[in-house]
Amino acid sequence: MPSDWAAELHGVTRHYGRGGAAVHALRGIDLALPAGTFTAVMGPSGSGKSTFLQCAAGLDRPTAGRVVLGGTDITGLSENKLTALRRTRLSFVFQAFNLLPSLTVAQNVMLPMRLAGRRPDRHRCAEVLAQVGLADKARRRPSELSGGQQQRVAVARALVARPDVVFADEPTGALDTTTAAEILALLREAVDTQGATIVMVTHDPTAAAWADRVLFLADGQLIDHLDRAPASHIASRMTTLTTHARPAA
Ligand code: ADP
Repeated sequence: MPSDWAAELHGVTRHYGRGGAAVHALRGIDLALPAGTFTAVMGPSGSGKSTFLQCAAGLDRPTAGRVVLGGTDITGLSENKLTALRRTRLSFVFQAFNLLPSLTVAQNVMLPMRLAGRRPDRHRCAEVLAQVGLADKARRRPSELSGGQQQRVAVARALVARPDVVFADEPTGALDTTTAAEILALLREAVDTQGATIVMVTHDPTAAAWADRVLFLADGQLIDHLDRAPASHIASRMTTLTTHARPAA
């Protein structure tokens, strides 16, 4: 039976280094993310958020445990197979937009399809550009756009191939509050209207409040979650986490 989970982590641990000097960045993460949901991951600095995202997205290999993406166990996959899976079934939105300056907006959006060896679908490209409000900017270069518009391009690029999971790492970290809300609204809409699955690491409770569920990481473990919580609840939960979290070694 096909899995209804977009992503599953089973007993995922990640150590850096060995022996007494080892850093335990993840200490046994068990998690299943339902398809068509928006999940935020929060935690104090050093709690393991980046490592979590890297392991969940197949960019880094766990020291132990299994990661299953869209029903495929990626644990034993060769580097080539993993790259192919990332290109065809996952997508990424970063804080720094990561657009190629020499390509037009449309070419940037279609780049992941090209890299995956697929025929670029111009109709679908136009559709996602319209969805993010950039229908008239397809032939522009990134440098001709504002930061918010550039991140809209990155969102369009992340959605174009209908991936199993969109991983977003502080996607609003470089944007002002109003522009950030516009980007988060686009991500929310992709989940609600197209069944996209989004996992977003953020330190901003206002951003996390757009998610269906907020997961709290502390010292490499998932210690709590809040569902459909307002920013004020998320912020106060973060405050207690930060107060009780062990200082970084
Ligand atoms: P966060 O994203 O929440 O700030 P990270 O996942 O970056 O947390 O880091 C978790 C822990 O792992 C921290 O103690 C960090 O110093 C350590 N760490 C992260 N990456 C490395 C690495 N490449 N080598 C050694 N330690 C690392």
